[in-house]
Amino acid sequence: MKIDILTLFPEMFDGVMNHSILKKAQESDVFQYRLVNFREYSKNKHKKVDDYPYGGGAGMVLTPQPLFDAVEHLSSEASVKPRVVLMSPQGETFNQAKAMELANEEHLIFICGHYEGYDERIREHIATDEISIGDYVLTGGELGAMVVVDSVVRLLPDVLGNESSAQEDSFSTGLLEHPHYTRPLDFRGMRVPDVLVSGNHGKIEEWRRQQSLKRTYQRRKDLLDDYPLTEKDRQWLESLDDK
Ligand code: SAM
Repeated sequence: MKIDILTLFPEMFDGVMNHSILKKAQESDVFQYRLVNFREYSKNKHKKVDDYPYGGGAGMVLTPQPLFDAVEHLSSEASVKPRVVLMSPQGETFNQAKAMELANEEHLIFICGHYEGYDERIREHIATDEISIGDYVLTGGELGAMVVVDSVVRLLPDVLGNESSAQEDSFSTGLLEHPHYTRPLDFRGMRVPDVLVSGNHGKIEEWRRQQSLKRTYQRRKDLLDDYPLTEKDRQWLESLDDK
């Protein structure tokens, strides 16, 4: 996968992109990224990228020319049509399903806004997707782009050591993940559930599924609206209400 990130503040990405799993994924050539300061594409003699809003009002607005030219140039270099993701608090709220969708692409371009926002023609004519990372407003799109890149790259083949760990993550299955325990068996009198050390794999799977359902029911009931519950699942959830 190729990822191009259009930003006025490329230095912000150094820590996140060059450590841990994202670093290893680049080293094994699963993905490559470029940070592109779109100021370099500005035809303004002072390399300006923003201007006052028509109609007046507070704040500066990103002008269309540098971003149109940057996206056209980066798109023309590649053989496949890229997905052009505009980071914006007004976009669709990012989730695991969207991460999985983007993980199937070969080329992603992220546009990180700043100031008051974008000239509307950028939104209308060059973005294929508009993504928000939540209902709050950040100073710029950089943190949001890092969140999206991180969650997409960890889904690419061979990035996580054990491929099943991404498949079983919260949201990938449609449910929140079950609790985990590790050594010691007894920590200050708090014991690991007996079933996990029983060696009975069928029972362990059943316990994990029930815990996963219980967690989802107690913390994120909304996720169950779209989840195909079996009759046995329903009975288990009803039994929780009786307790
Ligand atoms: N005036 C804009 C509005 O009300 O919609 C907010 C602009 S915000 C200060 C500047 C930039 O930060 C946005 O263009 C976007 O790139 C980024 N940004 C802010 N909040 C975001 C969020 N929740 N998700 C993704 N990007 C965000």
